Amino acid sequence: MSQHLLTVDSLSRESVDHLLRVAARMEPIASRRQVTRVLEGAVLGNLFFEASTRTRVSFNAAFCRLGGSVCDTTGFTFSSMAKGESLYDTSRVMSGYCDAIVMRHPDQGSVAEFAAATNVPVINGGDGPGEHPSQALLDLYTIDKEFHRLGKSLSGAHILLTGDLKYGRTVHSLVKLLSLYDPLRITLASPPGLEMPSTLIDLVASRGHRIEQRESLANDFSDLDVVYATRIQKERFTDEMNESFQGLSDDFMVNRDFLDQRCNQSTIVMHPLPRDSRPGANDLNVDLNGDPRLAIFRQTDNGIPMRMAIFATLLQVDTLIEQQLRPARWFVPSQIGTLDR
Ligand code: ASP
Repeated sequence: MSQHLLTVDSLSRESVDHLLRVAARMEPIASRRQVTRVLEGAVLGNLFFEASTRTRVSFNAAFCRLGGSVCDTTGFTFSSMAKGESLYDTSRVMSGYCDAIVMRHPDQGSVAEFAAATNVPVINGGDGPGEHPSQALLDLYTIDKEFHRLGKSLSGAHILLTGDLKYGRTVHSLVKLLSLYDPLRITLASPPGLEMPSTLIDLVASRGHRIEQRESLANDFSDLDVVYATRIQKERFTDEMNESFQGLSDDFMVNRDFLDQRCNQSTIVMHPLPRDSRPGANDLNVDLNGDPRLAIFRQTDNGIPMRMAIFATLLQVDTLIEQQLRPARWFVPSQIGTLDR
């Protein structure tokens, strides 16, 4: 694995498999049965210049669960960037304070520019419509765990990616990551104008995968293994697009009817979250809450072991984890969410 995690392009199949294995070893710590101090004394700089709940908090929690501490800053308004500071200067300054940096920024390519000024590991927490590599890794880890539970294999699986495939950075990273594996069937369904960039489609096809595009979900998906729904990224729209876009039509509704009538009993539902629950958004429907096929909260939980694995690997303590384990002493509910199954 290279020094930074900026894009999925820097990951080989071997390095991804390594991260999946390290994440599995983090499970006892992530589920609060064991404690490690392997990153004791280390400091993470969490720089979020765009909205975030899951990514910021889970990177923070993952670093703390490894025994490190976190300095957090959010929004441009409270940073020196509001005074005109360059990414280069901010990067060099932060590197003097921190042992690893996670950064989210609205401009594509900005995190790579930031990383060019430092030898401290930098993780891309989302650069505009570009990439979100740690999300793709936790998504793959989720698919792997769910398939293991269901007795399925990734090889030959049918995966549907739907919603905003143009601006959705999580699907950009995920489709590239999946393309490192044995041939898959990938269906892309998005409203006109929000299709996945053709460079990505061509890349996936060139690696031997069967990739098809659809303009709605009105098809037979009875062999579907995963539906991965995404939010319409309205914050990335131009004014013109904002005026003409009326919201996602119900042709793209992922709800109980879609699963029951078009998919099968073992199709799992994923979403990077947040889902837009406002009327008319037609994002992933809440009528699936409590349905065991809805994997979205198992997916968010998986963010902790995977992000721990990323830190442990980049900071080269991945071989030390087992040596440092102690039992956790505080109370943890056996079921985290009230609707968990
Ligand atoms: N949380 C994801 C991201 O930051 C997905 C989204 O915002 O829709 O890309």
